[in-house]
Amino acid sequence: MSKETDSPRLRLAVQKKGRLADDTFDLLAKCGLKVRHGRSRLFARIEELPIDVLLVRDDDIPELVASGAADAGIVGGNVFEEDRLTRDGVGAVIADALGFSRCRLCVAVSKGETYAGPAYFSGKKVATSYPGLLQSWLEERGVTDAQIVLMHGAHEIAPRLGLADAICDIVSTGATLDTNGLKVADTIYRSEALLIAAPGLDVAKAEILGALKGRMRGALASQHAKYVMMNAPRSAIPAITAVLPGADSPTILELAGEGDMVAIHSVCNEDVLWEHLAELKSVGASAILVLDIDKMLN
Ligand code: ATP
Ligand code: MG
Repeated sequence: MSKETDSPRLRLAVQKKGRLADDTFDLLAKCGLKVRHGRSRLFARIEELPIDVLLVRDDDIPELVASGAADAGIVGGNVFEEDRLTRDGVGAVIADALGFSRCRLCVAVSKGETYAGPAYFSGKKVATSYPGLLQSWLEERGVTDAQIVLMHGAHEIAPRLGLADAICDIVSTGATLDTNGLKVADTIYRSEALLIAAPGLDVAKAEILGALKGRMRGALASQHAKYVMMNAPRSAIPAITAVLPGADSPTILELAGEGDMVAIHSVCNEDVLWEHLAELKSVGASAILVLDIDKMLN
């Protein structure tokens, strides 16, 4: 047998087409990994690392990985958690959180309703394709008598059709809810893409997974990292440090002739949003600058 067939290859299940697929292929490209054979077939090959890519529906990824048919996979936390909560037996394990394809799973009610908390759902019917996540959220909040109506799409019309009083689904802008006379009542789960692995991977495959994870970490770190600078009174340093997303200890520099004022410099390892800048300002920061980082080596 040739060395090629002897050496183990990691079988990685990814979404063939869809919201997760675009981000997944982008990330693999940023890791210097080219997926050959196009996306239309079931299998593709990566040459730079010993990895075969299995192109599938996202809903199938947790089971493929749990059963060992695939060694690893990239899937939304929403799909992974739903599988974990509803499966008998051992599931896949989380190898890393990847920070992309972020979305939230929300419960939504008719616009005219007054929502004062989860107790609202007591005795109500809720349409969802996430019965596991919804039920565990409700139970953790003491609601045990809601009725879950399983639907696999078009949840938004369920209340108008009298099929349910409320829905539980992924929400991005809220525009679809709005068009259907609904509003977000609560967020029940915040999702991001996860790298998952089969339970009990052998040493050789675990090593390939480790190499993949290392490249992904490197690619994601420089993608989100920002260099943030601002001025602030010395007394505001603790409040500012608490707001900076994913920051290491900041560098504090004296500002010549400015008395109590200092310059604060920090690398933030997560997205720095406008909301963060507004918060920084409200705790005393001024002249805030956010700069891109080209390369980073820790
Ligand atoms: P498939 O054909 O593979 O079953 P799908 O239609 O179930 O695809 P997509 O709409 O492509 O799924 O979404 C895949 C995943 O992308 C979701 O499960 C979720 O983790 C993530 N995602 C990120 N943003 C959004 C969003 N705005 N709406 C829906 N899903 C999102
Ligand atoms: Mg799907």
